[in-house]
Amino acid sequence: MSELERKKEDAIWIAKTLFERGRATGSSANLSFLHEGHIYITGSGTCFGRLTKDSFSKVAMDGVHVEGLKPSKELPLHKMYYEKSDQIQAVIHVHSFYAVMYSFLKQEQVTDMVPAYTPYLRMKVGTIGLVPYAEPGSQELFGYFREAVSKSDGFILKQHGPVIGGRSLMDAFYGLEELEESCRVAWTLDEGRRERVDSL
Ligand SMILES: [Zn+2]
Repeated sequence: MSELERKKEDAIWIAKTLFERGRATGSSANLSFLHEGHIYITGSGTCFGRLTKDSFSKVAMDGVHVEGLKPSKELPLHKMYYEKSDQIQAVIHVHSFYAVMYSFLKQEQVTDMVPAYTPYLRMKVGTIGLVPYAEPGSQELFGYFREAVSKSDGFILKQHGPVIGGRSLMDAFYGLEELEESCRVAWTLDEGRRERVDSL
């Protein structure tokens, strides 16, 4: 099996695992990885439950489509994450429940919004930044992400969902798992804060 096929197999397994466990819904999630100087990102409208090796779009590092499906409209988020550091080799974006719920709360620390009640989020990802709400796929959202990307290690798009990068697909997957679990712990422990839902 070639290295590209192995990466696609990891991506397909991760997507299916996230879908089957309710971390990704419908066709809203997307993921990408780097291979030989190109971004491979899931195609627009693909479903994490049914990815195949043909579900990807090959894109140049400047965002120009090379071959395969039309790329996910969230491609600019992935691209900015790769530009942040050459340590980032894969990016996953989903709409997982607890990360979304936690993003509704008023935050004092927008560059480090998820409390480290357990040590694993810090170990696996680091700090989590809150990206202000704007319509998915909009230039406004990409502008907010551009401002946030250098200030934290992982991100939650407010009222939308997490974007997590890693040194490999599995690393990004482990980070996303820790983020969702940390948000579930924080959401439960911080019950009193739930009244402080930010204005919509
Ligand atoms: Zn999304």
